[in-house]
Amino acid sequence: MCKIATRLICWQKLHGRHHLPWQGTHDPYAIWLSEIMLQQTQVSTVTPYYQRFMQRFPNIKSLASGPLDDVLALWSGLGYYARARYLYQTAQLIMRNYDGKFPRQLDLIQQLPGIGRSTAAAIAVFAFGQQCAILDGNVKRIFTRYFGIEGYPGNRKIQNRLWNKASAILPDNNVNGNIEIYTQALMDLGATVCTRSKPKCVICPLQKDCIALREQRIDRLPTTKSRRPLPEKETVLLLLTKQKKILLEKRPPKGIWGGLWCPPEMTTCKNVTTYCVQNYCFSIIVLDDIPPLHHSFTHFKLRIYPKLLEVVSPIDSQQNNIMWLTLDEALAAAIPAPVRTLLKQIGTNPIFT
Ligand code: SF4
Repeated sequence: MCKIATRLICWQKLHGRHHLPWQGTHDPYAIWLSEIMLQQTQVSTVTPYYQRFMQRFPNIKSLASGPLDDVLALWSGLGYYARARYLYQTAQLIMRNYDGKFPRQLDLIQQLPGIGRSTAAAIAVFAFGQQCAILDGNVKRIFTRYFGIEGYPGNRKIQNRLWNKASAILPDNNVNGNIEIYTQALMDLGATVCTRSKPKCVICPLQKDCIALREQRIDRLPTTKSRRPLPEKETVLLLLTKQKKILLEKRPPKGIWGGLWCPPEMTTCKNVTTYCVQNYCFSIIVLDDIPPLHHSFTHFKLRIYPKLLEVVSPIDSQQNNIMWLTLDEALAAAIPAPVRTLLKQIGTNPIFT
């Protein structure tokens, strides 16, 4: 067997992680859910979300038949909500096209919405024991350092080189579940040893022939993308209140916070005395200007100007896609993280006490 694979397997058995909530199962649903949640997100953040999600939706069938609102509510605060929408869409597709059974073939897994090449490979390895290479962000970091590969790993040429390396060093055969242990080893090494800053090379099983370590290039690898500063956008969030309740509006399915519940948004709120939600107009008075809130997305930064407003006209609207909720009800709904912060902040305002 390839010497790197052997070393990684030995290391994982002794020093790797063995008690993560999604380990010790071959259930493709449980593995798929964990892999999606772990994209861009750390294990410590994911764990409680994963446990709550599995309790509410223990299998593909329950997820496919549950309301999307519940899925988004369970995802609330985890970010990157497209992941939750794809998860839901994929569960329905599997029920429809695969009779509720997760497909086993790598190319079929990879065709499912929201599942890229590396995630598909991780599912194929952990659920079906297939000999597949993974290449997530952590693994790219390990390989660029170990093999001393310069160049931004998102660049297609560099990515192809990394995939070739990843495939070339797989364990030769899958005796005793070697491919699972090896794949877990890469994940564990990236998360606990070959970390972005201050990697613990002294305890790394790859240290004796790691090129970055030998050539003192660790700080330069992986090569970062030359970034222009993110553009900034501004918005006004209208916290419309009436009788200790707050109005939330469902956002369109696509775009930022797609499908989540949010206070209505305006580009400006100067001297506004009425506000219309879906053809229903409220007379409003401004109670308070709340300090602006900053939130970063992948492609831009958002500065949010929240306004606490009281609706002074009668409310008789029963419209789709808007709800009047108490603060507790709103906090339990599918809301994005900055809205959660705002709702907690206004909870102490006399209007709610
Ligand atoms: S020796 Fe250091 S830089 Fe090289 S793979 Fe191990 S932890 Fe990463």
